[in-house]
Amino acid sequence: MKKETILVVEDESNILELVKYNLEDAGYRVLASSRGDSGLEQARRQKPDLLVLDLMLPGMNGIEITKILKQDEKTAHIPIIILTAKAQEADKIVGLELGADDYMTKPFSPRELVARVKAVLRRHYEKPKTKILKSGMLQIDTEKHIVSVKGKTVEMTSKEYDLLKALLEAGGRVLSREFLLEHAWGYDQSVNIETRTIDMHIGQLRKKLKAEAQRLVTVKNVGYRFDQEL
Ligand code: CA
Repeated sequence: MKKETILVVEDESNILELVKYNLEDAGYRVLASSRGDSGLEQARRQKPDLLVLDLMLPGMNGIEITKILKQDEKTAHIPIIILTAKAQEADKIVGLELGADDYMTKPFSPRELVARVKAVLRRHYEKPKTKILKSGMLQIDTEKHIVSVKGKTVEMTSKEYDLLKALLEAGGRVLSREFLLEHAWGYDQSVNIETRTIDMHIGQLRKKLKAEAQRLVTVKNVGYRFDQEL
């Protein structure tokens, strides 16, 4: 079986070593970088299966890196787990809004991080039951992770993809914000993420869906549904 590759960008060498050791021990191939700018370069070049990213870094900070990676269609799909210090709570929210998948506050247990890495990878790359989800001119190839409208590929961040897939799979049923939070961020994290984060991602999703966006309907005080027919 091919080893999944995790890139860890962290400037505190003791934390970097500890994380690297634990991830390798769990069977992952680990790439490491201690600077923001070179970490970004490495993420672009190597396209790891997942990125563990510290926020305070020399060269370029983690928020900036998340933004750049999530805006680039070649790297938007890479899941990101951010590492924050207690004093950076606000940055954590910004990171999640930009499309990071999860976060850990320092000091953290390396075992807990390994568990989060596993969960994010499983959620993100799990094999779905049906390969192609279709609705109107919208299509999701769940095997290749490709979303298209009228046959044209639409680039999605990992969160936008997870949300859209859940809505399509629901077949027109209304999904609550809480359900979507739990689905896309995982049960443990959903309590820490504000519902407006969902609204923000849905907003981004609508922009990207263009002609099909009107079918992504807001159900007041409840959540969202994706209309099958118009
Ligand atoms: Ca740091």
